Amino acid sequence: MEKEDKNNFLPPFYKALKNYAKRKPALWSTPGHASGNGLKACPAGKDFYEFFGHNLFQSDMSSSVEELGSLLEHEGAPAEAEKRAAEVFGADTTFFVLNGTSTANKVVFFATVKPGDLVLVGRNCHKSIMHAIIMNEAIPVYLTPKPCAYGLIGPIDFHQFTKESIRAKIAANPLTTNPKAAKVQLAVITNSTYDGVIYHAGKVKAQLADLTHFLLFDEAWYAYAAFHPFYEDRYAMAPRVKRRAQAPALFATQSTHKLLLAFSQCSMLHFRKGTGPQELDPQGLVEANLMHASTSPFYPLFASLDVNTQIMKDSGYDLINKAMDTALRFRAAVRRAGARFAKHGDWWFTPWQPARKRLEKDPAQWALKSGDKWTGMEIDPADDYILDPLKVTLLTPGVREDASMTDFGIPACVVKKYLAARGVVAEKSGFYNLLFLFAPGVSTTRTAQLLRVLHDFKLEYADNSSVEKWFPEIAAQYPGRYTGMGLADLSKEMHAFLRERDIMRATMEMYTQLPPQAVAPHKAYYGLASGRTEYVPLEEALGRVSVLMILPYPPGVPVMMPGERFPSENSPILEFLRTNEAFENRFPGFGTEFHGIKKVWENGHVRYMVCVLNKTKKGGAV
Ligand SMILES: *Cc1c(COP(=O)(O)O)cnc(C)c1O
Repeated sequence: MEKEDKNNFLPPFYKALKNYAKRKPALWSTPGHASGNGLKACPAGKDFYEFFGHNLFQSDMSSSVEELGSLLEHEGAPAEAEKRAAEVFGADTTFFVLNGTSTANKVVFFATVKPGDLVLVGRNCHKSIMHAIIMNEAIPVYLTPKPCAYGLIGPIDFHQFTKESIRAKIAANPLTTNPKAAKVQLAVITNSTYDGVIYHAGKVKAQLADLTHFLLFDEAWYAYAAFHPFYEDRYAMAPRVKRRAQAPALFATQSTHKLLLAFSQCSMLHFRKGTGPQELDPQGLVEANLMHASTSPFYPLFASLDVNTQIMKDSGYDLINKAMDTALRFRAAVRRAGARFAKHGDWWFTPWQPARKRLEKDPAQWALKSGDKWTGMEIDPADDYILDPLKVTLLTPGVREDASMTDFGIPACVVKKYLAARGVVAEKSGFYNLLFLFAPGVSTTRTAQLLRVLHDFKLEYADNSSVEKWFPEIAAQYPGRYTGMGLADLSKEMHAFLRERDIMRATMEMYTQLPPQAVAPHKAYYGLASGRTEYVPLEEALGRVSVLMILPYPPGVPVMMPGERFPSENSPILEFLRTNEAFENRFPGFGTEFHGIKKVWENGHVRYMVCVLNKTKKGGAV
């Protein structure tokens, strides 16, 4: 009689990996640490080995182990794991991608887009989409997000998903050779947005059905949607409602590590066949994946995706439902505290959410509706969005729903730094907002801690507790600057500065008033390789063509793309950059992080330098 496998409850790849590792095979292959043995040669290596434990090193083996199938060729146990994931997540085909959704997005582009193709992308998309545009030499046609008074980056309004709007954008695009095109090659929608606004994906699909050959929903923050009825019809791989004659092939890319349970870097790429004229040979997806994948994948990462599938299959609903309960309780507690403080005319954090008193797990209650003041946006009756209860944005005082700024305000960076000093890390922050993610792993204890620390901030603020005490590193790095100041002094000075500069106006407008496209993104980027670039300060940037993508963190969404020209003197983008530069000079240690900006420090003063194409030989700026 065959011995029963005690590991039968395990999913296929993890089971195969575990069983194989347990046999302690003698591997005459890579990796060189040979199941961790090589690390024991010195104390640091030994510590490393012991910290992570033997099993991790025993499971880190070369892809030449035939018994474990092939991750890259999608054969054996890995293929079985991906097939199960496809079933559980609602796709025809699923690939496990081990370098994040950043790579999954590039794989989709490589499988579907050729140089010169038009791609329709939200300007609120992740930088990996912009990278893919550069790498594939595609021509971007932008959808612009709704301006939001609170400095959040809104969703795309549904009017932009119409034939008229897309045709007009293509016709007005200075980079395309095909201004009469009626269709784009690929359209990319970020669902949900960074602040948790979710589209009715079913409606977006229907509207875009014959306007794009391929459709990608970037669901990096939203891999859990298939597991709770709250999100019905609001995610890419939702069950088909009806079969259309012209449905584009559909992709969803999900960072399984972000809000589900896999290790960092683990992502899934889901694919569903279309019914349109242009079909994708699935081998194209395999090849595109090979171009981006390492030939030495880390098996424990792959196994974590497999285990994630098993967990979601067995208890996905319970996990998400519980996370939602936790988030709802937290939101209610913040709101209750706010009502109490308001009675005494005292400030508190405002959860960015519908104004009703009791919010339950009913998607209708979470809709962003036309005329809703709380959104800080103008919602059109044609739009269809809901807010995701799991993404909790807290607004700090300082901004009204029309982006005007109040006398009293507390910039979020002070709160964020205080929280960090107390060991609490927010996902992101804006000038007057903080985002907290209620992932399935969040416990009631952790929620209670967050509430406590927010209350503590309020007390420390009231005491005008010392900046040097809470932010000793900043105080030490900029001696004298913050001496004798308290948290309230600092907040007041910052708020007065931001208010005087009307920062919320620029923040609100910079994603909607796009700079002109001078050359295609890849052409500007290639300036780096051909030595055609120079760094200039902001004062000299006007009219020049950006070589790099410029992104502020937060929110991590590009404000300039390569190939775009720095627009007029008083454009919101330059205004935003200048204000940030001035802010950092005034409040060193509290500056916004930027990608694509070289910060040059001299005598305690910072200058922001941007990379632009140099003037051509003929003397004209490109
Ligand atoms: C984080 C993110 C990505 C990239 O995902 P990684 O898994 O970190 O590589 C892509 N798209 C969006 C919208 C994201 O937020």
